Amino acid sequence: MTHVESAHLVELALRNATPTDADAEALRHVEQCDRCRDELRMLTRVVAAARTAQLVDLPTAPPDRVWQRISRDVSGAPDTPRPPAPAPAPGRRLLLALLALAAATGIAVAHRYLHERAELVRRGVVRQGRETRPSAFWRS
Ligand SMILES: [Zn+2]
Repeated sequence: MTHVESAHLVELALRNATPTDADAEALRHVEQCDRCRDELRMLTRVVAAARTAQLVDLPTAPPDRVWQRISRDVSGAPDTPRPPAPAPAPGRRLLLALLALAAATGIAVAHRYLHERAELVRRGVVRQGRETRPSAFWRS
């Protein structure tokens, strides 16, 4: 069984793009695979937390280009106007949520990589940190 790529699961959790045939195929796999379903559920929770956080929760406003990139990535909107400068509130939910999203994504990707690497080592495809048959990685 080929699991859904972690990057694809992140895109599914973000739901920014119009669903494609590949998305439908990935979701069919997710319905039947505990591992991919758990990963998608976790990523979806992190995305929801990031989307419900408020900018006023930031101790200081991010630079314009950072705000535009965050808005584009989290909301899917191409050009979300920057809101007024936040009040000096002590909360940090948005920042923490975004950091959690980045950390969760990194952990998920690292977990997937290590799991797949361990599987390749177990099957003898990889030995001493080098792949003897690199193309086998993509067929697994
Ligand atoms: Zn899977």
